[in-house]
Amino acid sequence: MFALVDCNSFYVSCERLFNPSLRTKPLIVLSNNDGCIISRSTEAKELGIPMGGAYFKVKKEFEAKGGVSVSSNYCLYQDVSQRVMRELEALAPQIEVYSIDEAFLCLKGFSSKELLAWGKKIKKTIYQNIGIPVSVGIAPTKVLAKMAGQIAKNNHLFNGVCFLESIVTQEKFMADFPIECLWGIGRKSALKLRSFNIKTALDFKNFSNTYLVQKTLTKTGRQIQDELRGISCLGLNAIQERKAITSTRSFGRGVYSLEELQEAIANYVTKAAEKLRQQQSCCKLLSLYIRTSPFQDTSQYSRYAHFEFPHPTNDTLKMIKCAHNVLKDIYRPGYKYQKAGVILSHLIQENQIQLDFFQQQENSKLIKSLDRINQQFGSLSIKSASCGTENKWRMKSEYKSKRYTTQWSEIAEVKCI
Ligand SMILES: [Mg+2]
Repeated sequence: MFALVDCNSFYVSCERLFNPSLRTKPLIVLSNNDGCIISRSTEAKELGIPMGGAYFKVKKEFEAKGGVSVSSNYCLYQDVSQRVMRELEALAPQIEVYSIDEAFLCLKGFSSKELLAWGKKIKKTIYQNIGIPVSVGIAPTKVLAKMAGQIAKNNHLFNGVCFLESIVTQEKFMADFPIECLWGIGRKSALKLRSFNIKTALDFKNFSNTYLVQKTLTKTGRQIQDELRGISCLGLNAIQERKAITSTRSFGRGVYSLEELQEAIANYVTKAAEKLRQQQSCCKLLSLYIRTSPFQDTSQYSRYAHFEFPHPTNDTLKMIKCAHNVLKDIYRPGYKYQKAGVILSHLIQENQIQLDFFQQQENSKLIKSLDRINQQFGSLSIKSASCGTENKWRMKSEYKSKRYTTQWSEIAEVKCI
């Protein structure tokens, strides 16, 4: 048996955690220069606010109806996510963190009689200990558990916990489950399946031409079909190390000068290198790109280039230097740059690096001290001067909440009146 635990409207729930005044209002979280809607409360959904939509289109009407919008605060979301996952680890024998707000749990050793009660316990514990509402879907395979999770979230009769135990119940819900909502079936695959008259999960389960399924959707399609039939093909994946680390952002306004681009790139490298060290890795390849906005009627320019380190590294200062050299090569004056990014790849574990006889002693002690200082006094308390101080290119996020759980200086205050 598997369970899928999914945090409800996760970003919105994190915001409400520290700001109770938002709990009853229609609330949305914005991303990308506060332009795009990425999380909605139930109240906002009921007002017809579209997911992924452009905020300016609905702003006036939404605010007139008492709606509130906030900028995304990933520091907070990441930390709350880790807390939720830690709780889950204590509650289940095995867990796969699937995304920032979802995890699969393996339920070996539970009798089916205990499972529903156990699902309710998970929901209650996470709410009590962390304050985040979750939905729990339980079923014999991962695909079915994912489906159960969606039913638990959307069908109020279940109170947030849905156990699809018998085949009869599974099929009853499959009959109303559109094929494109099924986990692992993308938009294109769904279109192909619809052309075979497969409209629901149940149609797919009963579709007998497995050869055609394999031919159109490859082995993955076959596995999804088997999972719908209760045959478990997808096990829990152990936590995978990231294969690449990216740090990329749009600018808050057009950037023209090399100096400002250098500043932005230094900041992105700093952030990515910090993540690299957190997972005790080094990278061999640093790629970066700069581009103008394809949506603006200005001259267009876009370049991508990379640098290969002779020896894998996670030394921020060295990486900034190399990134700046690459940037100088691809920068052309006269363009209105709108976005830049840094990608670190060909990652290798720190302890697996072959030592190089001629390798000079790197700044490892210095970098370790930087990390310690930043951990204690807050992120970027100390950084390379090339990161600049004003950062006028930064993206707008004007309505951002505080980093309540990761910065001492931003901890929530309680006032007695
Ligand atoms: Mg969710």
